[in-house]
Amino acid sequence: MTLTPVLSRYWDEPESWTLDTYRRHGGYDGLAAALAMTPDEVIGTVKDSGLRGRGGAGFPTGTKWSFIPQDGPTPADQSVPHYLVVNADESEPGTCKDMPLLMATPHALVEGIVIAAYAIRSSHAFVYLRGEVVPVLRRLQAAVAEAYAAGYLGTDIQGSGFDLELVVHAGAGAYICGEETALLDSLEGRRGQPRLRPPFPAVAGLYASPTVVNNVESIASVPTVLARGTQWFRSMGNEKSPGFTLYSLSGHVTHPGQYEAPLGITLRELLEHAGGVRAGHTLKFWTPGGSSTPIFTAEHLDVPLDYEGVSAAGSMLGTKALQIFDETTCVVRAVRRWSEFYAHESCGKCTPCREGTYWLVQILARLENGTGSEGDLQKLLDVADSILGKSFCALGDGAASPIVSSIAHFRDEYVAHVEHGGCPFDPHLSTLMA
Ligand code: NAD
Ligand code: SF4
Repeated sequence: MTLTPVLSRYWDEPESWTLDTYRRHGGYDGLAAALAMTPDEVIGTVKDSGLRGRGGAGFPTGTKWSFIPQDGPTPADQSVPHYLVVNADESEPGTCKDMPLLMATPHALVEGIVIAAYAIRSSHAFVYLRGEVVPVLRRLQAAVAEAYAAGYLGTDIQGSGFDLELVVHAGAGAYICGEETALLDSLEGRRGQPRLRPPFPAVAGLYASPTVVNNVESIASVPTVLARGTQWFRSMGNEKSPGFTLYSLSGHVTHPGQYEAPLGITLRELLEHAGGVRAGHTLKFWTPGGSSTPIFTAEHLDVPLDYEGVSAAGSMLGTKALQIFDETTCVVRAVRRWSEFYAHESCGKCTPCREGTYWLVQILARLENGTGSEGDLQKLLDVADSILGKSFCALGDGAASPIVSSIAHFRDEYVAHVEHGGCPFDPHLSTLMA
């Protein structure tokens, strides 16, 4: 399968992020097409395209927009305000597509925001951005200023009578604020912790008003759908997972980076484009969608990387963050590093995740420093079982998934840590990690 660069097609051009460059490549044509339609027609077009959420869960974007109650054709007709919130709090280990997109083409997001806000009759939109990534914050703020100056934001956008204010808000570096309801709490000025769902944000979101929360890549893909049509979009991918998307290859791969391709491409095909696993080495394991998804091995090289294909093979497409690990990697060490991340980022609201992630780290550390026992494998599985499906939000499941899948695929390597009295890969590692 060949690559299909759409969002990334001129990322290498000098000053790709400016409004001039964006317009030279057809930027804001999608907005012109949208403003010539009614809001309902825009929602219908996005629904027909089959675009699904690129933040991880794959929820149909147009369907999500259609949940917002509509009292009339404009924001002023609504009995309660509607909000659009873009989730740009990308922080999952291995997940690295939204930040490059925002650095290279921030106007793709701004244009998508104007279209989405017009469709759901919202006069206020927010981008909740991962605050530590200051260059991205500056770049996005500059693009927003350019869009205001050019009349793509503000009052009477392009003479349409539609008004939209856009606020870029920088978060303070908590992974949990990428969970959509924790993000909304944080945006409202409270400590970011997940809310009970339902009600989903579409019913009661920001300031308890109907709110669409979408990922950066989902919204940035919308202008191309409006400008080039649903048939064009559906000519890529397949019936249930149509279109193109960004796959992020990292780790032990010859040319790591962003590869934009139709949904359903396989890792084997992507590796051909990326120069393969680094020279002289072989693939050991990989993540299809960041560290929250069950790991895959070389036997999964031909799994179609779309929502259905990855689920059928026992994992999740998630954020399409393909982390590649070769035979030099200790799977126990990799899983321990992820577990430490989840234990640190657990918000502490629910017991299974708060206590469970702590104990996962303790047991993995024992295995690594040579004080583990064979019974620790069952303890890891028991703790993971008490987290999976029993936590308040998806962070808990994300922490438990790599434990269960790594033991399923590499039980012998865990046992080798017990028999060897520490990590068999590196005699110095046990001491270093103790
Ligand atoms: P989810 O399936 O619960 O919800 C997905 C979206 O659909 C949400 O916006 C939700 O509000 C909406 N939705 C679902 N059912 C609905 C209904 N009945 N009515 C109205 N709206 C509805 O998934 P989630 O818990 O929001 O997110 C989990 C995903 O996040 C995982 O797949 C994971 O890959 C991803 N993730 C991404 C990152 C990152 O850095 N981008 C980090 C961690 C996790
Ligand atoms: Fe917080 Fe973890 Fe519970 Fe989510 S699963 S609410 S992050 S403690």
